Amino acid sequence: MTPEELQSECTDVLQRLVRFNTVNPPGDERAAIEYLDQYVSEAGFETQVLGAANERPNLIADLRGAQDGPTLCFLAHVDTVLADPSEWTHDPWSGDVEDGFLWGRGSLDMKSQVAAEAVAGVVLARSGWRPARGTLKLVFVADEETGGDVGAHWLTSNHPDKVRSDMLINEGGGESFDYDGRRHYGVCCAEKGIFRFNVTAHGAAGHASLPRTGDNALLKLGPVLTKLADQPDAFQVTEGPAALLEGLGEDPADPGAALEHIAAVDPRLRTLLEPMLGVTLTPTMASASGKINVIPSRAQVRIDCRVPPGLGEEAARQRIREVLGEETDELRIEFTEQVVGNASSVRSELMSAIERWVQANDPGARTVPVILPGFSDSRWFRDAFPDCVAYGFFPQRHQGLLEAAPLVHNADERIDVRDLGFATSFFVDIARDILG
Ligand SMILES: [Zn+2]
Repeated sequence: MTPEELQSECTDVLQRLVRFNTVNPPGDERAAIEYLDQYVSEAGFETQVLGAANERPNLIADLRGAQDGPTLCFLAHVDTVLADPSEWTHDPWSGDVEDGFLWGRGSLDMKSQVAAEAVAGVVLARSGWRPARGTLKLVFVADEETGGDVGAHWLTSNHPDKVRSDMLINEGGGESFDYDGRRHYGVCCAEKGIFRFNVTAHGAAGHASLPRTGDNALLKLGPVLTKLADQPDAFQVTEGPAALLEGLGEDPADPGAALEHIAAVDPRLRTLLEPMLGVTLTPTMASASGKINVIPSRAQVRIDCRVPPGLGEEAARQRIREVLGEETDELRIEFTEQVVGNASSVRSELMSAIERWVQANDPGARTVPVILPGFSDSRWFRDAFPDCVAYGFFPQRHQGLLEAAPLVHNADERIDVRDLGFATSFFVDIARDILG
């Protein structure tokens, strides 16, 4: 098929997907999954619909080759976050195409990738293509946005043999950005860990009309917040970000200088790249007295802490000491969530294939590894199948990182329809390249 035909079919499939309201919670992904099941099985895929919850199934679709070989999996989630239509220019479930964009919740995160992966598989299967070796597997899941308990986590725990993959492509990368006169495409190789914690100040209660009767715990959080507002720079550059800085022509041994160069090129790039280079501490919630006239004996600030992949509690504690100082009896620190980040190597057969595709389809451009400050379903596959190389990649040439990133989970989410054709051709080509 020509690039125009791929774009047109992908646009059509994405419109249909956007029109299924799959806001999670509650998700209600069944209708979207059934539509995809029919679409890919008509083209020749063997499919299975499996779920922990009746209205929230997942789809596994296989196109097998004549000989044994690697399983290449295209993974994507069909659920979305919520949308408030009053904040949107177009109805979030319209799928309207206007001004060269397809509008709607999920048009970037990530029904666009569902559509591109499905259309690529269907176009290949319809043409009679089958892998020379191995299997092309499509896995479309429910429930990514609230953690995957009935989606990817459930599938990898309960049906590992049905979703086992050697190479996997999921969300998290692919939007292009310009740096130093050259276009770059991020390939997401890793995800940061989460080490959320509470800082609790202790004092003594009293009547608010007599301030000296108590020992106001809330006031003890003042210096804590000031220190969090004025955090000194500190970096822990792991494998992926080191390769990113090298790819940008910067020195990974001097991340501070690299960030200054990046900020001089575009301060928005610094905002997006800096969190990849170390532990971040972001206060988000606070609580103190339950009554306006009672001096609190206890006050708490909750901090969302993200740690580079592979590093654990010690890295979080070290950063906390650098910023807040030592824990004391009056200021206690307590972790509420600890998840170590995950990663795939930045060098692999799949990475080489992605690089080749980018060089062939956007001459002069190059790929660089990036890491996700949050996490995605790649985590469940990396956990379940330690040898699986999983990357986030959905190439967007026309609507770059700086345009796309602010629209994700936001009002007026939309995708440049030219990127639907561009990305679909990527999935067609990578399947042929890897599976023959
Ligand atoms: Zn997503």
